[in-house]
Amino acid sequence: MDIITNIQEGIIFSIEEFAVNDGPGIRTTIFLKGCPLRCAWCHNPEGLSPQPQYMIKKNERVLCGYKISADKLADQVLRNKEIYTLNKGGITLTGGEPLFQANFVIDFLRRIKPSIHTAIETSGYASPDTFQKVLPWLDLVLFDIKHMDSEEHRKYVGVDNKTIQKNLRHLCSSGKDFIIRIPLIPGVNDSKENMLAILNVIKDSKSLQRVEILRYNKIAGAKYPMIGQEYQPPFDQTAIPNVYDVFTENNIKTIVL
Ligand code: SF4
Repeated sequence: MDIITNIQEGIIFSIEEFAVNDGPGIRTTIFLKGCPLRCAWCHNPEGLSPQPQYMIKKNERVLCGYKISADKLADQVLRNKEIYTLNKGGITLTGGEPLFQANFVIDFLRRIKPSIHTAIETSGYASPDTFQKVLPWLDLVLFDIKHMDSEEHRKYVGVDNKTIQKNLRHLCSSGKDFIIRIPLIPGVNDSKENMLAILNVIKDSKSLQRVEILRYNKIAGAKYPMIGQEYQPPFDQTAIPNVYDVFTENNIKTIVL
């Protein structure tokens, strides 16, 4: 495996231990700052800016985000190695978009492999070159799919989905274990047509573990006032989304979270 970089520091904004929904076993989930997307339903707005920023929490101004070296983060994670081994767990990188700090991610992962099971949750929005360089350091990819129609994707996420589609197709044929995650947003991406378009791309992949459907979180907007922003999603938050489980019908394990 080619070590392509030596970026000493990244910026993260949270580390959550004992996570159980971000891959197998008991995991530590690490949240990286910075995301080039602007999903209208994003519930982690403090992860969007690549820089540390102030938030108001319980009437106090607190800094969200800090620099950390790949060495220090790896040391911290390696301390729990036995817990991960006992529980068949590991670490999961999320954000923000972890691939936004891809060099730091590789620098960190190469320090903890092969001792620890590694996963990433990603929108897939990175150059194919970057995506393919990070992949060998991962055991599992949680790949979020928002919309298969490029114009709808641009409307609700801020960018088209061409690069994401390219990376998704690469992932499907790579042999790397992956989970597809679909945030279910009422009136945005909950059509049968969208689900069938997703099914069509992933159904023949041998390394697909399952599909996870993530229900829209009605408290998605809770953190926006904390960073001085208003949450004004362009869809009806109170509507009940359609659930077309075309995946189970096609023998793909599916869970709703
Ligand atoms: S990809 Fe994730 S972090 Fe980025 S805007 Fe969308 S939901 Fe938020």
